[in-house]
Amino acid sequence: MAKIGIVIPAAGQGKRMGAGYNKQFLTLMGQPILAHTVRLFEESNFVSEIVIVGAEDDISVIEKLVYDHGFDKVVAICKGGVLRQDSVRAGVRALSPTIQRIVVHDGARPLLTLQTFHKFLEETQEYSAAIMGIPVKDTVKRVDIAGNVLDTLPREHLRAVQTPQIFDRRILEEAHHQAASAGYYGTDDASLLEWMGHPVRMVEGIQENVKVTTPEDLWLAERILAMRDARGARYDA
Ligand code: C5P
Repeated sequence: MAKIGIVIPAAGQGKRMGAGYNKQFLTLMGQPILAHTVRLFEESNFVSEIVIVGAEDDISVIEKLVYDHGFDKVVAICKGGVLRQDSVRAGVRALSPTIQRIVVHDGARPLLTLQTFHKFLEETQEYSAAIMGIPVKDTVKRVDIAGNVLDTLPREHLRAVQTPQIFDRRILEEAHHQAASAGYYGTDDASLLEWMGHPVRMVEGIQENVKVTTPEDLWLAERILAMRDARGARYDA
């Protein structure tokens, strides 16, 4: 299998959480959200190295977190950019040249499991770009700026997209380079490849892999971890 490197963007401001500081340092079962996220990749035998991207003011806190938890696979902690895309680009640059496949995973998604991650790696092996998503439960409508409904999107064709997202390094670098040159911004990395016309494979994710964005998500994440702890399987559930 190709050598896999992980880029964890964790440089967001977390304004929707209202905590007044980076949501990735809020604790879940006594540990920072970011520590849960990094631990999963630290424990995976398929991962060679990890790069964490943090806001400039958070770099020293992240360095301490990595040291305290003994995360040996972390090869760099680099400074993020204004938008997520800038942060991922900085992270990709910090990976060793020997890394051939790159997985991007949000720092704010601490509930991915080893089992799901390994299934994802297996299912996406043949694809140069692949992502994880789940069927949409709600009916989704497009609206105009004034709040009028324009139309209803066919639900069977919709997926709510999560991370991890995996890419051949060459293609991800090319996509980021071209997007930066053209000033194109997407909310995830796959959208840059879509914009370039490159095919992206979708595989099924898990509901539990929430992005901890609001106080309600934090509450839910605590419950999910408590449930797993009760079964004696926090990360490999
Ligand atoms: O903003 P959003 O919720 O989409 O962020 C997803 C992930 O990207 C989070 O883990 C966040 O910290 C990270 N991010 C980043 N740099 C930014 C904005 C977001 O690393 N400028």
